[in-house]
Amino acid sequence: MAGRPLAFLASVPVDRVKNIGPGWAKKLAGVGIDSVADLLLHVPRRYLDRSQLFDLLAVPLGEEVTVAGTVNSVQRIRLSRNRGRVIAFVGDGTNVVKVTWFNPYTKIDEGWEIALSGKVERFRGGLQMTNPDLYRLDRQGESLVTGRVVPIHPSVAGMAPGKLRESIHNALVRSRPIHEILPEDLLDRLDLLSRDEAIAAIHFPPDAEMAAAARRRLVFDELFRLEVALALQKRHQIAESRGVAHDVSGHLVGAFVDALPYRLTKAQERTIGEIRGDLASVHPMHRLLQGEVGSGKTVVAVTALLTAVQSGMQGAVMAPTEVLAGQHFIGIRELLESAGLAPALLEPEGAAGTESLFGGAGGREAGVRLALLTSGNTEVNFLPPGGAARSDVERWIGSGEIDIVVGTHALIQEGLHFGRLGVAVVDEQHRFGVYQRVMLRDKVEDYDPDLLIMTATPIPRTLAMTLYGDLDVSVLDEMPPGRTPVVTRYVDKRPEHLTEVYDLVRSEAAAGRQAFVVCPLVEESDKLEVASATAEYERLQGVFPGLRLGLLHGQLRPGEKDAVMGRFRGREIDVLVATTVIEVGIDIPNATVMVIEDADRFGLSQLHQLRGRVGRGTHASTCVLIAEPSTPEGEQRLAAMVATTDGFRLAEEDLRIRGQGTVFGTRQAGLKDLKLADILRDADALVAARREAFDLVRRDPELEEHPLISDEVRALLGEDVEWLFRS
Ligand code: ADP
Ligand code: MG
Repeated sequence: MAGRPLAFLASVPVDRVKNIGPGWAKKLAGVGIDSVADLLLHVPRRYLDRSQLFDLLAVPLGEEVTVAGTVNSVQRIRLSRNRGRVIAFVGDGTNVVKVTWFNPYTKIDEGWEIALSGKVERFRGGLQMTNPDLYRLDRQGESLVTGRVVPIHPSVAGMAPGKLRESIHNALVRSRPIHEILPEDLLDRLDLLSRDEAIAAIHFPPDAEMAAAARRRLVFDELFRLEVALALQKRHQIAESRGVAHDVSGHLVGAFVDALPYRLTKAQERTIGEIRGDLASVHPMHRLLQGEVGSGKTVVAVTALLTAVQSGMQGAVMAPTEVLAGQHFIGIRELLESAGLAPALLEPEGAAGTESLFGGAGGREAGVRLALLTSGNTEVNFLPPGGAARSDVERWIGSGEIDIVVGTHALIQEGLHFGRLGVAVVDEQHRFGVYQRVMLRDKVEDYDPDLLIMTATPIPRTLAMTLYGDLDVSVLDEMPPGRTPVVTRYVDKRPEHLTEVYDLVRSEAAAGRQAFVVCPLVEESDKLEVASATAEYERLQGVFPGLRLGLLHGQLRPGEKDAVMGRFRGREIDVLVATTVIEVGIDIPNATVMVIEDADRFGLSQLHQLRGRVGRGTHASTCVLIAEPSTPEGEQRLAAMVATTDGFRLAEEDLRIRGQGTVFGTRQAGLKDLKLADILRDADALVAARREAFDLVRRDPELEEHPLISDEVRALLGEDVEWLFRS
């Protein structure tokens, strides 16, 4: 074999490597090594530098070192067939070391020139080594374990490190030279090793510097692969799409913004401008709107929805929970009312069952018609509460007579049709995943609606570039004025501390404010979680006899949830005891205390979301974390929460504490393909890889001139990207 591309080696089963039979192949498969390429990319975790030889006279004791000398004598002691030891005395002219191997079969003989790697210790005035790695110097051949930088590979169960190392070496010998896939000028520009050099040197580097250079090249390859896939995906979206050019000069958006009771922040203005540009263009918008909790994403989303409406089309908002959908409905209804854009109320009898609401098109002056559609609930803003039958609402959505629909997954259910969906907003995107955002877009057949994805989960910029690399990104990096930062305290469960927490709740309630108490997270069991929340609700009745308590959890029926939220919003409830159903979106500016019980059980982004439920009005707010963490990670999360309210910093901290593989779970394609790259540490490489990848795809959109890159994206990123190449 005269060398191969890596993509080809990805199709060669690992048992083709010398001395790897089906038995070994099975063990390798256990850690995901199926092909020769997988084996070559099973890169060392760390290295032991054995390239430096020490004189026995000056050797540091108790450290991994390599020494070399002549074997003066050998003594073999056999205790049984497999037990025994070999003792040798080795001298290098400066001193002598006594070496013991507890393996009676160790190959060694008097007169050999050898190198020994291991720890040297002092023993009865002399030097000794026990079970060092041994390499014979007076013979030809290259050692993999002594006298050099030795790779320590991540272990494979049932396989000795030496066997693994040797297999990788054999695979390398057969595969080299591994073909280059990157253009020469790119390698020069970024000062990267060739791929062949890099793959060889990452396993068997001549020195630490080469190991680092090899890693840098392979990290670049991983990131570049991913970014090429994202660039292709984006190109594909643009090429395939048949979008809508919306009317951005219409009256609705202007009237809405003018009527707001506050001035938009600069960040909101900028973002609205970016979205407006997307909507005016015939290319479908594909934009991520990132913004800290409370940064004012809703207003931005409403301008996008109203742009659709003023173009004679519909807007839809999909939220991850019933509660949040209900809240969006109320919020948007109020915004429309205060802008004078709400329709007049109809008589229920007049509307129900009628084929057409307002006698067909042309009724738009009557106001913006808004509907809520979840699996358990329907409302519209032109009928009294409870006045809209589900089947009517669904029909009006289909006929295009409802302008804006707010809902949950119910919006993507089979059988629901939109008459003229123009702008789809998906809130809190990470809870849906890519599949569902595409589904919402697929609700119409002959064109692609514009898509805005909102997330309040602050995502480090580099992570956003890998996870959402196919999206344009807008960031609301500025809070509306007048907010007082939330003060965060962390207390243990000692009674005197809990008393202080309860006193705080009482005094805030006395001042007319409200509080949340979030009950411990019970993993994997809604039932248990509800039970614990209910028990806590009952216990707290005793703690706060004078206050009005409410209970909110995931197993309440949708109507009940709305009723509880309605009473809390209407200040009929002082303390809302809840599970994490309140995690996202809830906007109660009068709430000033957030108590989180067993806070160490929550993830950092969840804690940050929960804390974001307070501090939304003009009053100073407090977040109290009650916890006695049992793990260092739990401790670190709480310390981070106390230290900062900056969501982006917390997100980076989270990444650091948890490691990138677990941030959003493995379901996020892309990250699981990053074995070497660390998107925080390798942020610069990511930026470079993205620039080069997008540049390449711009110049060569079908990768016709770069077949090796094309093959590799396919071979190493797998079926997930196969559709990109169908055209
Ligand atoms: P997000 O969805 O980003 O968490 P919201 O859209 O719910 O935030 O807005 C949070 C609160 O801030 C709401 O009460 C909203 O009325 C208010 N708000 C939004 N924009 C502004 C602004 N420019 N000035 C003052 N208050 C604002
Ligand atoms: Mg929100």
